[in-house]
Amino acid sequence: MPTQTSLRRQGLAIYHGLLGIEVLCIGIAVAGLLVSPAPLLFGLLLSLDIAVLAVLVATRRRLADRFLTGDAAQRSLIQTNIRDSLTGARTRHAFLQSLGARVNHSSRSTVSLLLVDIDHFKSINDSLGHGVGDAVLRHLVEIGEGVFPTGSVSRLGGDEFAILMENTETDIATRAAALFLSRLAVPTIIAGRQVRVSASIGIATSPHHSVFGDELMLCADLALYESKRRGRGTYTVFDDEMMAEQKYRRLIERELRAAVLLDQLELHYQPMLDGAGETEGVEALIRWRHPVRGLMAPDRFVPIAEQSNLIDSLGEWVLRRACRDAAALPGRTIGINVSGAQLQRDTFLEMVVAVLGETGCDAGRFTFEITESVALGASAAVLQRLKTLQDMGAHVSLDDFGTGHFGFNSLSTLPIDAIKIDRSYIQAMAGDEIASILVAAIGAIGRTKAIAVVAEGVETEEQRLLARTAGCTVFQGYLLGRPVPLAELAGARRSIAA
Ligand code: C2E
Ligand code: MG
Ligand code: MG
Repeated sequence: MPTQTSLRRQGLAIYHGLLGIEVLCIGIAVAGLLVSPAPLLFGLLLSLDIAVLAVLVATRRRLADRFLTGDAAQRSLIQTNIRDSLTGARTRHAFLQSLGARVNHSSRSTVSLLLVDIDHFKSINDSLGHGVGDAVLRHLVEIGEGVFPTGSVSRLGGDEFAILMENTETDIATRAAALFLSRLAVPTIIAGRQVRVSASIGIATSPHHSVFGDELMLCADLALYESKRRGRGTYTVFDDEMMAEQKYRRLIERELRAAVLLDQLELHYQPMLDGAGETEGVEALIRWRHPVRGLMAPDRFVPIAEQSNLIDSLGEWVLRRACRDAAALPGRTIGINVSGAQLQRDTFLEMVVAVLGETGCDAGRFTFEITESVALGASAAVLQRLKTLQDMGAHVSLDDFGTGHFGFNSLSTLPIDAIKIDRSYIQAMAGDEIASILVAAIGAIGRTKAIAVVAEGVETEEQRLLARTAGCTVFQGYLLGRPVPLAELAGARRSIAA
């Protein structure tokens, strides 16, 4: 296919050719005037010459017009392809071109790539509006261009950015990343509101980590994932172990898909007791009986499943299993853990309705447990899904409270029926005054809102008594019973003195 440049070159050649013929026509007319052998014949030739000349001039003008407008359109197309209209950063397209040109097998220079992701951007958009969200994106680009004057800031899409730093070793890139995060952390006024922006960064350097652009992107992306895993608001440099971990994750994911079909999953139940020692309900906790690795705890596979739609199959399996066991389970409620990823999709509610319908189970038996971090990043759609669950008669509880960055005031806006205080607070209460104050404050909120406050991870009688004094109304932990299969549940529940 001819390129724009070669077309332009051909057009210009035709333009100049036409100009030459026009000059020739004028020359013929002038020569005819001077020689003028036969007036009639000369008149005819002169008219013909002028007609040809007129056609030539018109054609040449059209050609010139087309070139001029074509050039302008081409220029603006290039402009929009290169610059993001919202932030002024370079576009993904332009970034990928630079990456390909700078990071390749034959390139000798050191290039550092930083992938940047704004933390909780969704909740900024949802709570402060898209106008503020847009301003936050522009703010980030502005700071980025100040901190990385030689590196180009590109917007890859949404709230993801990339910075390519040429001739830059990893240590310089990490120093720049630290400076960038510290500048970003300074509160700024956007649309009359004080906003503090934080971001997570993944760093990879060529040729050390890879000499291929796409692989370097993967390395930086794995490092970015690590930053998020470490609590966000930080940067991480890629290391080879991350790649090994990625391969491990892929293997587990493949095996887990098969495990759902091969019936290798098990649901264990842990009792939850009220203040009088009666069984209030149970929490369903998934286990994977792996043929080689043995009984695997959810921490080893749930986070992997969460990275794909595998978590949906897992969630469906858990609910169906719990529905089938429901009649034999003690207490009023069955706690079902739900991942944030499941709640992102409309199919979650459809699945719940279908499974309840199919098994004839009552929605009122179930308490869907969402973690604090899921609640923090919950979009309007997610909140609506939680409300729909409540409308169906099910309950919603806030799990592991205290581990995220939750604000007390948000407790009043969330559609929740119970708060589960993370075990780290319950276990720290005996020696840590702050933990006791926090638990007491949550106890008071629970009383005010008339919702249950669950103490998680109760391992000793002292912890149970302290939690009870602080206002907890339900208790769960090894002291009262470990998670066990349904068949062992009756024996596992330990009695307590009221
Ligand atoms: P979680 O929902 O907070 O569940 C409580 C965890 O604390 C369970 O770990 C339980 O075994 C453990 N635990 C209970 N009492 C004590 C105690 O006294 N001391 C200590 N040290 N630990 C105690 P488990 O079963 O390993 O589950 C870990 C997490 O995995 C759960 O935390 C939950 O977030 C997730 N999970 C479990 N099952 C599912 C599931 O079906 N779906 C999803 N999405 N996540 C699940
Ligand atoms: Mg839970
Ligand atoms: Mg918990």
